[in-house]
Amino acid sequence: MNNELLDEKLLANLPENIVQHIEVLERIRKDFVANVSHELRTPLTVVIGYLQALLDQTEQEETTTITIYQKMLQQTLRMQTIIEDLLTLSRIETNQSIPVSRLPVDINAILATIMQSAERLAAEKQQTLTCEIDHSLTISGNQGEIHSLFSNVIFNAIKYTPNNGNIAISWYADGNKAIFAVKDTGIGVAKKYIPRLTERFYRVDKGRSRESGGTGLGLAICKHVLIRHGGLLEIDSEEGKGSLFRCIFPEKIAS
Ligand code: ADP
Repeated sequence: MNNELLDEKLLANLPENIVQHIEVLERIRKDFVANVSHELRTPLTVVIGYLQALLDQTEQEETTTITIYQKMLQQTLRMQTIIEDLLTLSRIETNQSIPVSRLPVDINAILATIMQSAERLAAEKQQTLTCEIDHSLTISGNQGEIHSLFSNVIFNAIKYTPNNGNIAISWYADGNKAIFAVKDTGIGVAKKYIPRLTERFYRVDKGRSRESGGTGLGLAICKHVLIRHGGLLEIDSEEGKGSLFRCIFPEKIAS
């Protein structure tokens, strides 16, 4: 293996399975750095291009100048979202070894906050948004992380469902488990892509995701939040028909 960060002599003395594991981690690290650089370079190139255009043309029409500023702002905000998502992901991963809080999460407060913006966004697309919550049901864990999890799944459903579609949110108990489910009648995902959805920066349709403000990091964040809470993400989807995302928590508690 050719890598400036790894000491070849040290590797030669390690058992084969450990070396293989290190190599896999190293490959993941390299892919990650390459992806981050690529994702940030694209909007940055656009901003630089517009700045250049502003400098090159001394006499701009006012409307052209405003359009250029708007586009630069759009791309800069995009970079900000990518960086914020990366920081959230890195914070969750850093906390991975620290046990998650045993305090009850205020699910009602989280959903009330998210629903305010979700209702507005769904109304803009004439979508029907329903929310059925068992108000007495909760789990223990980290309030901020559960907020990120729920909002990513809900806003994805709105984003990937065309106008006039339906989105149904539910929070219910199933035996000892607590389940957060979001079902939509959106564009869906072909079965072969489902296992890749939680990979960082993976998007079925990069162009469409970018246009709608996606970073490709949301479901990676969801996966890590669920792992930390001992839960798992189940995705069922059919291309052109819709999707069902279920966040399953192993242990409910009564609030
Ligand atoms: P993004 O920021 O691109 O939405 P995510 O990590 O949240 O990134 O999701 C990864 C990909 O999974 C999306 O780009 C999209 O292709 C697919 N996806 C997520 N949620 C849905 C959904 N409700 N319906 C259809 N496709 C979805």
